[in-house]
Amino acid sequence: MKNEMPDIDVVFDAETIAERIETLAAEIAEKLPENLLVIVVLKGSFVFAADLLRALDRVGMRPTVDFITLSSYGLRTESSGNVELTRDISENVKGRCVMIVDDILDTGRTLAFAKDLMTARGAQAVHSCVLLDKYEKREVSIKADYVGFPIDDFFVVGYGIDMAHLFRSLPFIGVVRKK
Ligand code: 5GP
Ligand code: MG
Repeated sequence: MKNEMPDIDVVFDAETIAERIETLAAEIAEKLPENLLVIVVLKGSFVFAADLLRALDRVGMRPTVDFITLSSYGLRTESSGNVELTRDISENVKGRCVMIVDDILDTGRTLAFAKDLMTARGAQAVHSCVLLDKYEKREVSIKADYVGFPIDDFFVVGYGIDMAHLFRSLPFIGVVRKK
């Protein structure tokens, strides 16, 4: 028997996300080199990255891809404040033009951690792209170069983004309704 699912209100539907990703890819292709190294921050951004990478291919880019796992939430819905590196990339970033892809920019600690790490390893340039920007919540002064959608501060799920490991498979981004 299936568990009873809580109500989830749609914030960005699948079509809206898909359209935005096409324009985002065009913006990226205008500015960044064809042989970009895309570093996907797992786990939350795996669906976004899969769609963004194919959109980048459609606009003529030929990126290489690597993955890093960073965690600051655990099972909670509030950031713990510490960013933990649980799985590193395997590519050498020295001299490369890198673009870090994450699902949500919130306090800014995760993106700052990833950018500092790639810079310290000798990347020639470190750009960033996030699907959602919770611009009100910043605790570290950082901006993403490419943003899908700015959002207010509410806890979202779906399209790769989880709540205690659930809801990553939803095709849309939504907010769990409190009962
Ligand atoms: P930051 O380090 O900027 O505070 O947090 C960014 C990370 O926190 C994101 O990559 C994401 O994993 C997680 N995060 C931030 N807001 C949310 C949210 O509303 N829902 C979920 N599931 N994760 C979030
Ligand atoms: Mg994350």
